[in-house]
Amino acid sequence: MSRAEDRTATTARPHENLLERARAVMPGGVSSPVRAFGAVQGDPPFVARGRGATVTDVNGREYLDLVGSWGPLILGHVHPEVREAVERALADGTTFGATCAAEVELAERVLERFPFADRVRFTSSGTEACMSAVRLARGATGRKRIVKFEGCYHGHFDALLVKAGSGLATFGTPSSAGVPPEFTELTDVLPLDDEQALRTLFEQRGSEIALVAIEPLPANAGLLVQRLEFLQLVRELCSAHGALLLFDEVISGFRVAPGGMTELTGITPDIVTVGKIVGGGMPVGAYMGPAALMDQVAPLGDVYQAGTLSGNPLAMAAGIATLDVLGRGDVYKRLEALGAYLEAGWASALARSGVSGSVARVGSILWLCLQEGSPPRAFSGVRPEGASLYAGLHAELMQRGVWMAPSAYEVAFVSAVHDEAGLDRAVAALGESLAAVAAGAAT
Ligand SMILES: *Cc1c(COP(=O)(O)O)cnc(C)c1O
Repeated sequence: MSRAEDRTATTARPHENLLERARAVMPGGVSSPVRAFGAVQGDPPFVARGRGATVTDVNGREYLDLVGSWGPLILGHVHPEVREAVERALADGTTFGATCAAEVELAERVLERFPFADRVRFTSSGTEACMSAVRLARGATGRKRIVKFEGCYHGHFDALLVKAGSGLATFGTPSSAGVPPEFTELTDVLPLDDEQALRTLFEQRGSEIALVAIEPLPANAGLLVQRLEFLQLVRELCSAHGALLLFDEVISGFRVAPGGMTELTGITPDIVTVGKIVGGGMPVGAYMGPAALMDQVAPLGDVYQAGTLSGNPLAMAAGIATLDVLGRGDVYKRLEALGAYLEAGWASALARSGVSGSVARVGSILWLCLQEGSPPRAFSGVRPEGASLYAGLHAELMQRGVWMAPSAYEVAFVSAVHDEAGLDRAVAALGESLAAVAAGAAT
């Protein structure tokens, strides 16, 4: 049988040998690398559907979902209002390549929550939003250099796909093959939580820096909660040297507060990027800022950026419905209460187990930090032993019906439709899993 015939045959049995077939036709069997479960034990289940706070795999196993599609699903799966909005939009067409009313409505809602900004441009992913913010900053300042922090993730485009060299202000080293060093020579990587490194870099080349990019709540290398004074110093130095400040709120925007960390810190950045929640589970990103800056983007200005599916009516409808539900009643109070509930439960499970660890949390974002002492603020403080322990722990949690991110460096998300009973299961599962891992290690 030819390969083509073979593939035709498989469509009749869509759930058989899925992993094998996925690996035959997609690199690693996935569309995004972490989904391959490479850093944990066991094979990734294939998800058939999600409802509320749970997902069900193709074999009918149900899991409590603490990944929430990596952040977007703050209202859980298939929230009735989001579903209805998307279905209504779908009936009128999926994409026009022309402006639709829903874009204006979502833009107004976004800017209401981020009042420092006058204009927003929609993209189809957080990566695109951050990439466009870098281009805009370079265009607006006429400068070339950009600064990022070790452990912060801003999407997978070349300029910011850089891990830190140790020490300060070293030239960036690309963290992916296929990124020529010349492309990242203009990127400096600094440690988080280090005022001295920041001051030194600005003293050396402050006048060359177009943009400093930071996740004000770094949540892509554990949850590295920053001191307010550190974030304030970043703002102060940017202003003093004419560099622009990007708050990457792709995770924190609309999650830790309606206006994200920008609202919580009271710091005014020059550009904010959002994504994830703003698309209500559909592919969306956006960047925003004051009119004087944003009007330098094409067609008004000479900084080019475009997208065939940007602002498409389905994604806009999902975003509008999500922000509207979030804007009603006490959703953020509920998210805080649920987050605190899970934090307390997990912390006591850890304490009872005798395994070193703590729980870092801001609102509904939690990180199980499997190491001694309090959770670190800088990436250098994240210890690798935690990751090897997590690899086994993750498999035990999955067996007990709790779906956690397949990486020790990823956070857990609680949604507004989780409840105490479900979180009790997550706490019991952690207790049992810690015991199972400890028993395994002892034998
Ligand atoms: C997820 C994420 C991105 C990238 O968004 P994509 O939609 O995956 O391209 C950028 N910045 C942060 C902080 C993120 O968490």
